[in-house]
Amino acid sequence: MTSTAFGPAELLNRLRARSAAAADSPITHVERVPPRPGRTVPWPGWVAPSLRESLAIPGPWEHQVAAATLAHEGTHVVVATGTASGKSLAYQLPVLTRLLTDERATALYISPTKALAADQLRAVARLGLDGVRPATYDGDTSREERDWIRQHSRFVLTNPDMLHHGILPGHDRWASFLRRLAYVVIDECHAYRGVFGSHVAHVIRRLRRLAARYRGAPTFVLASATSGDPAGAASRLIGLPVAEVTSDASPRGGVTFALWEPPLLPPSPASAAAAPDFSEMSGGLAEVELPQVRRSALRETADLLTDAVAAGTRTLAFVRSRRGAEVVATVARRSLDEAVPGLGARVAAYRAGYLKEDRREIERALLSGDLLGLASTNALELGVDLVGLDAVLICGYPGTRASLWQQAGRAGRSGGEALAVLIARDDPLDTYLVHHPEALFGRPVEMTVLDPANPYVLGPQLCCAASEAPITEADLELFGGDVAREAVRGLTESGALRRRPSGWYWTHPGRPDVDLRGAGGPPVSVVESSTGRLLGTVDHGSSHMMLHTGAVYLHQGVSFVVDDLNLDDAIALVRQHEPEWSTHAREVVDLTVLGVREYVDAGPVGMFLGDVEVTSQVVSYQRRRIGSGEVIDTKPLDLPVRDLRTVAVWFTVSPAALEAAGIEPADFPGALHAAEHAAIGLLPLMATCDRWDIGGLSTANHADTEAPTVFVYDGHPGGAGFAERAYATAAEWLRATRSAIDACGCETGCPSCVQSPKCGNGNNPLHKEGAVSVLDVVLTELGRPRRTPDRPAQPPSPA
Ligand SMILES: [Zn+2]
Ligand SMILES: [Zn+2]
Repeated sequence: MTSTAFGPAELLNRLRARSAAAADSPITHVERVPPRPGRTVPWPGWVAPSLRESLAIPGPWEHQVAAATLAHEGTHVVVATGTASGKSLAYQLPVLTRLLTDERATALYISPTKALAADQLRAVARLGLDGVRPATYDGDTSREERDWIRQHSRFVLTNPDMLHHGILPGHDRWASFLRRLAYVVIDECHAYRGVFGSHVAHVIRRLRRLAARYRGAPTFVLASATSGDPAGAASRLIGLPVAEVTSDASPRGGVTFALWEPPLLPPSPASAAAAPDFSEMSGGLAEVELPQVRRSALRETADLLTDAVAAGTRTLAFVRSRRGAEVVATVARRSLDEAVPGLGARVAAYRAGYLKEDRREIERALLSGDLLGLASTNALELGVDLVGLDAVLICGYPGTRASLWQQAGRAGRSGGEALAVLIARDDPLDTYLVHHPEALFGRPVEMTVLDPANPYVLGPQLCCAASEAPITEADLELFGGDVAREAVRGLTESGALRRRPSGWYWTHPGRPDVDLRGAGGPPVSVVESSTGRLLGTVDHGSSHMMLHTGAVYLHQGVSFVVDDLNLDDAIALVRQHEPEWSTHAREVVDLTVLGVREYVDAGPVGMFLGDVEVTSQVVSYQRRRIGSGEVIDTKPLDLPVRDLRTVAVWFTVSPAALEAAGIEPADFPGALHAAEHAAIGLLPLMATCDRWDIGGLSTANHADTEAPTVFVYDGHPGGAGFAERAYATAAEWLRATRSAIDACGCETGCPSCVQSPKCGNGNNPLHKEGAVSVLDVVLTELGRPRRTPDRPAQPPSPA
C-alpha cells in the first residue's frame, strides 16, 4: 500500500475527529495555499553543451536561468526561492560551464554543514564532467587527500570553519587555486545569522582579501531559503552589492495548512509530575518544571502521526529536539501496533548524526512507501533530498517563518495536494501564532540579521586577518571602514597587533584562537563520573543555571544529579539519581546603562536602544518536592559573577501612568516582569533569533532610568543585532506581546503567556493582567504623534 487513501481535507477531518469530544476544535485556522504551475525557459546559449547533456533534464525553470545568467555575466547574485525549487542548478550552470570552458579556472563551494557539501559533491560527481575533479575539503579529509586537492581539484567543497581554520591561514599553499578562483558559491546562506553569521561575514572578507592578493576576483553566487530582503542580507554577508532573484518558477502542488492548538488539560496537581516524560526540555533544562496547562505538543504530534499513518498517508513530523523525535516515533509505533500488529514498523525516527547509509536507507524507504511515517529533527531541513510527502506535521513553531515554509515545503508531490499542520507548543510565541494566522500567512519572511560591526567579532577577526597577511590602510575599508580603523587602534594599544610602516602585524607565536560558533566561552561537557561517558554539552551561558552543584539534570528522560561543576575545565560530573525533588536556581542580575544610542520620547513612556553592562550571578538554588512543589530547602552556591557588555532595548513608564492604568504600586514588579517574559518570547517574531539568545530584566525602579523599566538585551557579547531589530519594530513587537498575553485562556499566567522556562527568579512575581495594562500604556503613548530627535546628548528622564 503506497498510495494515499485520503485527500488533505479529508485527512484533516479525520485528524479533527479524534478530539470531537473536546468543546473547542483544536484547529484554529485553515489556510489554503493554491497550486502553482511551473515556468520553464529555453536553455541559454552560453551553457556548455556537455553540461547540458550530462544534466539530462528538460528545460530549466525561469528563476534558475535568471540567476545563472547574472552569475555568468559576472554579477554577484543571490537566488532565494522555496524548498526543492532547484537552486543548485542556478550555480551549477555558470560554475561548471566556466570550469569546462576555461581549464585553469577554479571554484569554491561553501555550505554550513559537511553533510550538505557531501550531497553536492555526489551531485556534481554524478555528472562525470572531465577535468573538474570535485572534492570535499573538511575536517574528515586526510593529509594526503588534502595535498592532492590543493594541487588538482578545481571545484573544492568546504564549510566556513574549514575556510577559517585551514584554508585561509595556509593561503600560500592555496595561492595557485586562489589566483584562478572564478566563483565562490555560498549555499544555504540564510544559516549565517547572529554572531556566527557576523563571524562568517568576516571570513568571507578575509577570503576576498587573500584572493585579491593573488589577483583572483571571484563572482559570488549565493543560495538562500526565502527570506526578507535577500539581496541586503547577502550583501552584508559578503560586503559587496548583490542582485537578487526571488520569483520562484518551479511548480508546486496545493497545500492545506492548518494551525492546531492542543486542548487545555483539566487542572490537576499530578500533571506537573507526569510532564517530564514528554518534555522536550530534557537535554538538560532540569530547572524547568512549569506546571503543564495544555496537552503536550509532542503527545499531540504523536497521535496525529498515528492517525495519518493509519489512514495510509506518507507523513513527516518535524520535532525540535532529538529526544522529542524519538518520543513521537516510539509513541506512534506503539499505538499503531495496538491497532494493527506490525503497522508500527512503518514508522521511524530520523536525526542528524545517523550514518550516511542509514539516512539514505530511510529516505529510500520513505520514498518507496515501505515507510509511511517519519519523525525527524530539523536535520532534514538542510539539503536532504526528500520531497513529495502527503502530509507534514510541525511540532512547535520552528523559530522563523522561513524555516516553517521550508518544512511545510516538504509536503506535496508535483501536481498532488498535501496537508501541513503546525502544532503549537506551550509557549507565548506559538500561542500567538495559532491565533494570529496573519502573522504567518501573507507576510514576508524574516530578514536574516547579522552585524559585522560587532566589536567582539571584528576585533578577533582582524587578528586572524593580520596573522594571514599584514593589514594595510586600504584593507580597512573592506573590514568596515571607521569601525575597523577604531578596532585596529584598540588592538594596537592593547598589544594584540603591532603597527609598522607597511601595516598592522600579528607578531605572536601561533594563530589567534577564534571559534566561529563560540558563544562567550567553551561549552561545558556533562560527564557521568562512574563510567566517564559524555552525556552531552551545555552552552557556556546556561551552564551556571543548569549544571551548578546539586542540580538535577535530565538526559534523554534519565535523571542525573551534578556532583561537581568545574568551570576551569568546563566539565560537570554527574551521577544517575532519581531524587524526589527538582532544583530551581536563582540568579541575581544587575544591569548598568553605559550609553543611549537612540530613543523615542513619548511623554510618560520612553523607548531606548543603547549599550549596557549586565552582571549576573547564580547565587542559590531551591529543592522542591516533585508533585506538590513544596520547597524543601534553599542552598547557597559559590559561582563567579559574570559580565556581559551588550546592546539592549528598553522602555520606561512613569509610575503615575501605571497607576492611572489601574495597576497598584505593589503589582508594578509583577506586571513589568510578566511583560518582560512575554516580550522576550515574542521577539523571535521580528528577528531571526530564539528566546535563548535574549535576556531580560525588569524593575519597578532602575537606578539609571529612575523609573519602572523593562530591559531586553542581546545575550551575546557586543550584541548580534537582535536588540536593534526589536527597537526598530518596537510597536509591532509589543503589540504582538500584548495580544499573546491577552488571548491566553489561562487565569493567572502560564508557559503559553507570561511564564519563562529560563527565569532566574522562579517566575515570581508575575502579574498577567498588569502586564497587559503596562503594554497598553506603552503602545498608546508610542502611538501618539510626537517629535523625535535623532541622537540625544542627554536622554530624558520620564515625566
Ligand atoms: Zn497563559
Ligand atoms: Zn523572570
